[in-house]
Amino acid sequence: MARYVFGADVGGTTAKIGLLSETGEKLDFWEIPTRTENNGEMIIPDVAESIRNKMKEKGLNDNDVIGAGIGVPGAVNVDGICYQAVNLGWENMNVVNELHSKLKLPVKAGNDANVAALGESWKGGGQGYRNMLLVTLGTGVGGGIIIEGKILAGAKGAGGEIGHIHLVDDEPDSCGCGKHGCFEQFASATGAVRLAKRVLESSTEDSVLRGKDFECKDIFDGYKAGDALCKKAAEQYGYYLGKGIAAVATVVNPEIIVIGGGVSKAGDVLFDLLMPSFKKYVFPGCADAKFALAKLGNDAGVFGAAKMLID
Ligand SMILES: [Zn+2]
Repeated sequence: MARYVFGADVGGTTAKIGLLSETGEKLDFWEIPTRTENNGEMIIPDVAESIRNKMKEKGLNDNDVIGAGIGVPGAVNVDGICYQAVNLGWENMNVVNELHSKLKLPVKAGNDANVAALGESWKGGGQGYRNMLLVTLGTGVGGGIIIEGKILAGAKGAGGEIGHIHLVDDEPDSCGCGKHGCFEQFASATGAVRLAKRVLESSTEDSVLRGKDFECKDIFDGYKAGDALCKKAAEQYGYYLGKGIAAVATVVNPEIIVIGGGVSKAGDVLFDLLMPSFKKYVFPGCADAKFALAKLGNDAGVFGAAKMLID
C-alpha cells in the first residue's frame, strides 16, 4: 500500500508544509502563517493542526502516514531539542516531543539549513550522492553536511554552520555573529556587495555599479556583460567562496558540493569563479568533488523534513 509523509519548514513569517509520497513525489504543498507571539507557543500546534486537517481532507488515516518531519531556524540536536530559535521566540524547545504530543505520529526535527541539505541530497542537486555539502548563499552563508545520507547535526545541533568559519584576518567590519572575518562576510550576497563597494572605492574607473544602490545580482550581470570592475569584484567573491568551500571540503570529503540560495541564480559562472581558489586550497584527496546547483529552491526544507522519516 502506498504510504505518505509530511514535511514542514518553519520560517519566521510562514511555515511551508508538504504532503509527499514515500518515494518523494510532491503531492500537495501549502503555507500557514508562523505565529511568533507568546514565545511562539502556537507554532507547533498550528503545524500539527494543519497536517491533521490535510489528512482529513485527503481521507488519510494514521496507518497511511509514516510521520512528519520539521525543520526550524535554530540549532536542533539529534534528539530534536532546539536550544534557541531567535526568530520563533524559542529557547530549549523539545520540538519532537511537542509535535508528537499534538500530532500522535512519528516525528523528527532538525535545523532548517541541515534539513534543506537533506532535501537537496534526496531529490535535488545532490540526488544520488551519499556524501554532500550544501552551501546556501543568501543574506548570510548557510550550510548543511550530509554524511552517508544523514545530517551531521553535532552535539548541540550547530553542526554545518559553515558561514562562520574564520577566513580573513584584520577584517574591520563585524559579522552578525559578533566576530570578524567570517566566511559569510565575503561569500554571502551581502558580502559580494561589500566587496564590490571596496573595488569601486579603490578605483576611478567607470562601472555600471557607479552611482546606484546596487545589489548582488547587478555585480554578476555586470560581470557577464564585460564590466571591468564587476569582473574584479566577482573574481574576489569567487576567491573567498572557493577558499571557504575548500576548508569545509577538506574536513568532510563530499562527493558533491551543491550551491543554493539567491546568489546561485548567477548560475554556472559561480563555479568558474570559485574553482581556482578551491583547487588551490583544498586537500588533494578531497579535490575531485563535483559541483552542482541546487534544484529545489524554497521546497528543499520540506523535502528534507519529510526525508528524515524515511530512513
Ligand atoms: Zn560570523
